Amino acid sequence: SHALDGQVVLITGGSRGIGAALVEEFRSLGAQVAATATSAAGAEALCEKLGERGRGYVLDVTDDAAMDATLAQIRAELGAPSVLVNNAGITRDQLLLRMKDEDWDRVLQTNLRAVYRLSRLCVRDMIKAQFGRIISITSVVGMMGNAGQSNYAAAKAGVMGFSRALAREVAARGVTVNCVAPGFIATDMTAALNEAQREHLLQQIPAGRLGSGQDVAAAVAFLASAQASYITGETLQVNGGLWMG
Ligand code: NDP
Repeated sequence: SHALDGQVVLITGGSRGIGAALVEEFRSLGAQVAATATSAAGAEALCEKLGERGRGYVLDVTDDAAMDATLAQIRAELGAPSVLVNNAGITRDQLLLRMKDEDWDRVLQTNLRAVYRLSRLCVRDMIKAQFGRIISITSVVGMMGNAGQSNYAAAKAGVMGFSRALAREVAARGVTVNCVAPGFIATDMTAALNEAQREHLLQQIPAGRLGSGQDVAAAVAFLASAQASYITGETLQVNGGLWMG
């Protein structure tokens, strides 16, 4: 038997990067994984990858009606998720003077509003079951800030504030609400760095390397476990010592 046998774990943005590592981690722990992608092809690839261990679903987390419908479908096909991992996220980097309203809004919608909304949709069943785990992927940037990422920093800090508030609302119901804040992880999101930027970045990371999706997934799996039942409203940093605030 595995640590998460039979539990339904919903992971947003499971198609690549950290999300793909999360899918692999929870699959290996025996969970039934509901993983989302924005395209039909992405969802189909997730279905193939998961086989008997779960299903892929098409979901754009900024589409409220689609979110409602997808969650209803997951509940019907796999059962109500007892673990929600809010992983889907984007960047639209720009210095504030050049920030467009649409860049601000898009990042806040995808990285913050969707977390609020999907958590609200999932938490009712968790309260009923007297067990649940809501884990959101935030960022070191939401804690220390980063020039050119005011929208992203605001959204990620917002998720951490949201999580601490919800943690207090549901703590007596067996539901924990936590964040995992990665530093720099080697995914598409960080692939755009040039050689000089990469060198500069590595000099700031005491561990001397970028993180992997697996580094993040292991932290999420711990917070999802029964052993972590007394940890709530917390943010677990996974950053190789980049920042320790
Ligand atoms: P990637 O850019 O590699 O992947 C992003 C994922 O989010 C994809 O699965 C993508 O789906 C999905 N996604 C994007 N927009 C939407 C949307 N509107 N609706 C649903 N899904 C969407 O990102 P990472 O794996 O690097 O990042 C994952 C999370 O980790 C994000 O929240 C990010 O902010 C955070 N993070 C990443 C760090 C890093 O260094 N990489 C550092 C700190 C935090 P699709 O493939 O279908 O487009």
